[in-house]
Amino acid sequence: MPSEKAKDNKSLVAVCAACAKPFSPEVMVSLAGREEGKRKQFAVCIECANHGWRPPQFTGIYTFRPQ
Ligand SMILES: [Zn+2]
Repeated sequence: MPSEKAKDNKSLVAVCAACAKPFSPEVMVSLAGREEGKRKQFAVCIECANHGWRPPQFTGIYTFRPQ
């Protein structure tokens, strides 16, 4: 089996696109938006998402996830 898990282990911390603080990916959500006309996934912490932060031209639906 290819070691896809090694990739996950590398990114134990991700930076929130909204507040720019580092978080564990477990407490982040990925929101689909656009940047410079290209589709892009924005990783934000649940707190920012619950406070209503959305990427530019947000195209998906964010479902509230309790912490
Ligand atoms: Zn945040």
